[in-house]
Amino acid sequence: MIKKLALIAHDNKKQEMIAWALKNKDILSEYDLCGTGTTSKLVSEATGLNVKGYLSGPLGGDLQIGAKVAERDIDMIIFFWDPLMAQPHDPDVKALLRISVVYDIPIATNPATATLIIKND
Ligand code: PGA
Repeated sequence: MIKKLALIAHDNKKQEMIAWALKNKDILSEYDLCGTGTTSKLVSEATGLNVKGYLSGPLGGDLQIGAKVAERDIDMIIFFWDPLMAQPHDPDVKALLRISVVYDIPIATNPATATLIIKND
């Protein structure tokens, strides 16, 4: 069965996400991809891959993805959050991290871990 992978990157991490996605485009093409609004759009434009977009993170996108995790409808998350800048939707970020742990969903928060988990999946 094709696994569902969600992509999320905070603004200061979007270039890193695009570079990572381009580098791993072939492996990513084996997944059913989705992501928060802007991240999904940027990754899709850069790679040509189909990435289903949810709302933008600050407008509820992280929570939508969290709800999918709770419904067992997302298998893995790549989430490049910004460790150097406070986010208006910090409670949502925390909720997504929490629910991913509750359901034991792999969640990579930097490119090194993201590469490890997709190469070992
Ligand atoms: P975005 O949301 O992809 O819509 O920018 C990401 C986030 O800030 O959580």
